[in-house]
Amino acid sequence: MSGEREIPAEDSIKVVCRFRPLNDSEEKAGSKFIVKFPSGPEENCISIAGKVYLFDKVFKPNATQEKVYNEAAKSIVSDVLAGYNGTIFAYGQTSSGKTHTMEGVIGDPAKQGIIPRIVNDIFNHIYAMEENLEFHIKVSYFEIYMDKIRDLLDVSKVNLSVHEDKNRVPYVKGATERFVSSPEEVFEAIEEGKSNRHIAVTNMNEHSSRSHSVFLINVKQENLENQKKLSGKLYLVDLAGSEKVSKTGAEGTVLDEAKNINKSLSALGNVISALADGNKTHIPYRDSKLTRILQESLGGNARTTIVICCSPASFNEAETKSTLEFGKRAKTVKNVVCVNEELTAEEWKRRYEKEKEKVARLKGKLEKLETELARWRAGEQVKIEEQVNLNEEASTPVNTLEESTTTIKDLGPVPATPALMIASTMSSEERQKLEQEREKLYQQLDEKDEEINQHSQIIEKLKEQMLEQDELIAATRKDYEALQAEMNRIQQENENAKEEVKEVLQALEELAVNYDQKSQEVDAKNKEMESLSEELMQKQASLNSTSSELQQLKDMSTHQKKRITEMLANLLKELGEIGTTIGGEGPELKVSNDASKLEEEFTVARLYISRMKTEVTNLITRLHEIEGSQQDSNRKVTEYEKELSECRLLISQHEARMKSLQESMREAENKKRSLEESIDALREECAKLKAAEQVQSVSESEKKEAAQLRAALEQQMDQLRDAHQKQVAALRDEIAEKQSLINDIKDSNQKLLLAQQQLQSDYDKLKAEESEKSNKLQELIATNERREQARKDLKGLEDTVAKELQTLHNLRKLFVQDLQARIKKAMTSDDNEEDGGSLAQKQKISFLENNLDQLTKVHKQLVRDNADLRCELPKLEKRLRATMERVKALESALKEAKEGAMRDRKRYQYEVDRIKEAVRQKNLARRGPIPQIAKPIRAGQQHHPSITTGGRAINAAQSIPKSLDDQKRALVVGAKE
Ligand code: ADP
Ligand code: MG
Repeated sequence: MSGEREIPAEDSIKVVCRFRPLNDSEEKAGSKFIVKFPSGPEENCISIAGKVYLFDKVFKPNATQEKVYNEAAKSIVSDVLAGYNGTIFAYGQTSSGKTHTMEGVIGDPAKQGIIPRIVNDIFNHIYAMEENLEFHIKVSYFEIYMDKIRDLLDVSKVNLSVHEDKNRVPYVKGATERFVSSPEEVFEAIEEGKSNRHIAVTNMNEHSSRSHSVFLINVKQENLENQKKLSGKLYLVDLAGSEKVSKTGAEGTVLDEAKNINKSLSALGNVISALADGNKTHIPYRDSKLTRILQESLGGNARTTIVICCSPASFNEAETKSTLEFGKRAKTVKNVVCVNEELTAEEWKRRYEKEKEKVARLKGKLEKLETELARWRAGEQVKIEEQVNLNEEASTPVNTLEESTTTIKDLGPVPATPALMIASTMSSEERQKLEQEREKLYQQLDEKDEEINQHSQIIEKLKEQMLEQDELIAATRKDYEALQAEMNRIQQENENAKEEVKEVLQALEELAVNYDQKSQEVDAKNKEMESLSEELMQKQASLNSTSSELQQLKDMSTHQKKRITEMLANLLKELGEIGTTIGGEGPELKVSNDASKLEEEFTVARLYISRMKTEVTNLITRLHEIEGSQQDSNRKVTEYEKELSECRLLISQHEARMKSLQESMREAENKKRSLEESIDALREECAKLKAAEQVQSVSESEKKEAAQLRAALEQQMDQLRDAHQKQVAALRDEIAEKQSLINDIKDSNQKLLLAQQQLQSDYDKLKAEESEKSNKLQELIATNERREQARKDLKGLEDTVAKELQTLHNLRKLFVQDLQARIKKAMTSDDNEEDGGSLAQKQKISFLENNLDQLTKVHKQLVRDNADLRCELPKLEKRLRATMERVKALESALKEAKEGAMRDRKRYQYEVDRIKEAVRQKNLARRGPIPQIAKPIRAGQQHHPSITTGGRAINAAQSIPKSLDDQKRALVVGAKE
């Protein structure tokens, strides 16, 4: 296989064109279908507005996904598996069907696009291949946005750089390579990448229209028998929308973004134009990362298919045309493709031998040519038959030069013949120098790239930090604003409180001033009052003096009256005498004369009567009360008497008993006496008998009798003694008993006596109390009476005074009249004067009294005001204190709020750090072991070929160490890179 494909082939880039159907919005907008397809069977041209475009294939809107795949992409699968590089990319404006074509609906057999179909096909091919082939499939997935490469399988890699490998093939350095062993794993990776893409952006549609997504499948295979290794890279690219900026209506950053995207797309266009132009030696691959990645696919070592997607709507005509132009240009680009083969030592040896042979051959030829040249130079004519056949030999060295892919790559896409020419004109030293220089320059370029990458990463980090800082600043600003607002509010409140305090203070001051004024007023009034009262006193004194004068006058008048009455009486008497002498009407006169006096007396008598009446009623009530209390005490007395009589009865009983006992004692005494008497008698008899015995002792006969008698007597005596003794004992007992009884009784008697005494004393006490109480009662009655009396007296007195005043007035009138009648006019004028003076005085007094009243009223009012103010003062103070406290509380609240904000910020920071850490950990955990795991695919096996299953155990066992080897190699390569 390698032998046949050793020679690189020149392939044009394949360009297919796909038109999608009119979509709903286009139909609604009334857009027309402006594309015309040829009616014949050939499907490779279209025409728009009369202009015809030719492509390798044109798909009509109704072309199925399967058809597109089969006719545009399927061949690539076998190429990749044969060790070729491949690229498929979709170009076109947004919503022209690029994603639909490349991805479609993964998992839907009808709607799935090129990528899933290719993946499935690759695995199916592998399963159908020879068993001694081992496959290693890795996939990478990244997007290019604003000329930055973001790894979609590892979100932490946001700005990857493009490097060149040892064969000068650009590749994305550090991109995650996931080993896969089944289509499902590939789809999983795609899903993961897509979800990561979704996480990073807010509007997916917009984002996907501005970014290029690149899916890379790397297939390595090894023939286990001859160790031949082949590798093929397949880039599947969904480009950003190719539309012009104006159409999207982008502004600001979005405009920048669009420019940047268009920059990479225009770089792509420039590269294609440069390639299409054939004469240009410089291809601006390095203008953008996209073109660098696609360097091999455009004019390099890759079989490339471009799917240009277009809208058939009239609305999009301009875009469609520019897309078609792009396709047309791309169509002219030629790629130089060859198999990527890793040669074994034997192969190298073989090639070396071949080269040696070739060199020998060439040397021989050179010699021949030299000799021919020498002959020519010598002026010899060499015959055509003798001449060396240059045409025949020339093709061979070219082939040999192009045989190694590395050489071709070194030279780039520049045609081989000029290179040869340059090589032949240059000395080998110069060439080496140039080579070295170029090497150095490339190295520098890479270094710069690396630097740029680092810088951009730093920039990214800084940007992130800046964003964070911005956020923080915004948060703090918000906090600050909130705090400011709070502070303002508090200040406002404070201000208000201050105002209030001021007001309160003002009010207090006012009050104090008022109070001072009032107190001054009061003082003034007091002074006034004092002066007035002094005046009053003076007036009073003058009044007193005048009243005493009046009294004197009255006395005088009474005296005069008396005299007058006397005179009258005398006159009357004289008249009476005259009457008697004449026999007239004396008594009548008397009656009329005494009428006023009688009235007076009568009133006095009435007064007395009324006084007595009240006295009597009072006395009666007192009496009733006293009777009640007497009854009570009587009752008590009777009770006590009853008790006393009972006690007396008891005493008499006891006395009677005592008497009876004394009698019985006496009886016992008598008995005792009688018995003693009988004893005495018996003793006497005994003595007599003894005497008789003595007498009779003479006669013995008598002796006997005497003895007998004596015995009898003695017997009798003994008996008597016994009885006596017994009796005595009984009597003594009885006496003792009685004695004790007597003692008892005496005791009880004593007790009773004591009790009686007690009772007596109690009785006495009660009596004393009663008497005391009655005395008190009497006193009270007396005082009450007196009071009543006094009251009545007062009333009476008032009445009488009034009456007397009246009578006095009358009398005075009478007197005046009398005086007028009798005495000279001088007296009357005096009287009048006095009257006038008293009236004026009265008026003045009443005026003063009025004044005094008013003053007292004012004084009272002031006192009340003062009290009110005093009451209000603590309230105001309280308010003041409350406001102070409020201010303090607000200040503390402010402080707290500030602290809280600080704390919140810290917490937030901590939280953010924690989350970041967690995300990082998670990411680490998720793709910890993956990059190192190689998942070799063995041809001829179904899914999971590396896992031991039944009969294929040996192969699997062999494959494992291989895969480990591969891992090591991969690691080594990674380290080198
Ligand atoms: P792009 O990726 O170019 O922005 P999409 O692939 O997202 O555009 O396509 C836009 C819409 O048009 C999608 O809803 C898609 O399903 C639909 N569409 C695109 N091409 C076709 C087609 N050939 N047939 C049917 N529908 C299509
Ligand atoms: Mg898209």
